[in-house]
Amino acid sequence: MVRLEHIGIAVKDLEASNELFEQLLGTPAYKIEEVASEHVKTSFFKTGESKIELLEATTPESAIAKYLDKRGEGIHHIAFEVEDIHAEMARMRAQGYQLLNEQPKRGADNKLVCFIHPKSANGVLVELCQTVE
Ligand code: ZN
Repeated sequence: MVRLEHIGIAVKDLEASNELFEQLLGTPAYKIEEVASEHVKTSFFKTGESKIELLEATTPESAIAKYLDKRGEGIHHIAFEVEDIHAEMARMRAQGYQLLNEQPKRGADNKLVCFIHPKSANGVLVELCQTVE
């Protein structure tokens, strides 16, 4: 079965938001990582079994920049950890879900990731992720 891995939040200013979330959660970000291929800088906070991921755009063509323009700051996606992302993608495709990428791609925090179109999930952008070393 899947596990809620993290909730992704789009922010305008990662540094300011890191401070805010450090105060809110009482714990500092345990990782700050730039994902050049996705044009984002991310930070991660541990919240029990799950995490909070903050995402800041590094270029105007970043999906996060477009999201911020359109919707402003807020919850951007929820991510579920799966054991076999290829198998889950095939299962979802067979069930008619619209996937946003053909193949899993390398995401932040040592993950292979794939996104499901919000149209297929009640307006929620869903990320599937599998931990890789
Ligand atoms: Zn994510």
